[in-house]
Amino acid sequence: MMEKLKLGVFELTGCGGCALNVLFLYERLFDLLEFYDIGEFHMASSAHEEGHYDVGIVTGTVSTHRDLELLKNARNRSDYLIALGTCATHGSVQASVELPLREKLKAVYGDEGNPMKALDSKPAVEYVAVDLAIPGCPYDKEELYQALMNIARGADPVRPDYPVCVECKLNEYECVLVKRNLPCLGPITLGGCNAACIKSGLGCIGCRGPLPGEVNPAGEYEILKGLGYNEDYIVRKFKTFARWEP
Ligand code: SF4
Ligand code: SF4
Repeated sequence: MMEKLKLGVFELTGCGGCALNVLFLYERLFDLLEFYDIGEFHMASSAHEEGHYDVGIVTGTVSTHRDLELLKNARNRSDYLIALGTCATHGSVQASVELPLREKLKAVYGDEGNPMKALDSKPAVEYVAVDLAIPGCPYDKEELYQALMNIARGADPVRPDYPVCVECKLNEYECVLVKRNLPCLGPITLGGCNAACIKSGLGCIGCRGPLPGEVNPAGEYEILKGLGYNEDYIVRKFKTFARWEP
């Protein structure tokens, strides 16, 4: 019988959706437990094991000093660290706000108004190197499942490197940008969600973050302007999940 790998889920500041989404694997979570023992997963278990982890998962942003300590600790103790969800990979909504968190606290509570020792929210990947980033708000459960299965088998997880549009074409979904003039960010957003929103008739709001490499946000900006969306609306849309200038 193969020895199981030690898995830890470390939760930083976020809505909790990415940790909860692990539980939404339902019966497939039990498939994973054939290969993994959980040593830390605040939302699901009272286990709190010190020491080495084969695989660590971090969700959420670094928004407090406690987050930063937890993240560094997880990095130091994990052979393989996964940044899971857009909070961890790109900062998501709380890192995209116009006014940084510390300034907000100061505006409301004055100079002493930071009892939580809040930091300006940043993605985990800005503080530590990770071995795999799985974005999404929340991420696609299948992507996490396949990644953990591959790691358990000693294989490198699949890393999508194409825009959401590719998945629309593969699924033969009608283009909501061209056909319905919806403000869809699919052309400049990293795929891997199987175009979930377009399947439901909605435009992509960019929750998996910008597609790295040769992408043309200025072109997307011009298309949306041409469709009648105003500049402020477009800029806000671009910045919802990542600090990304059109
Ligand atoms: S990425 Fe989205 S779902 Fe995940 S913790 Fe952050 S806000 Fe919640
Ligand atoms: S279509 Fe866009 S907003 Fe929807 S899940 Fe995929 S990346 Fe996120």
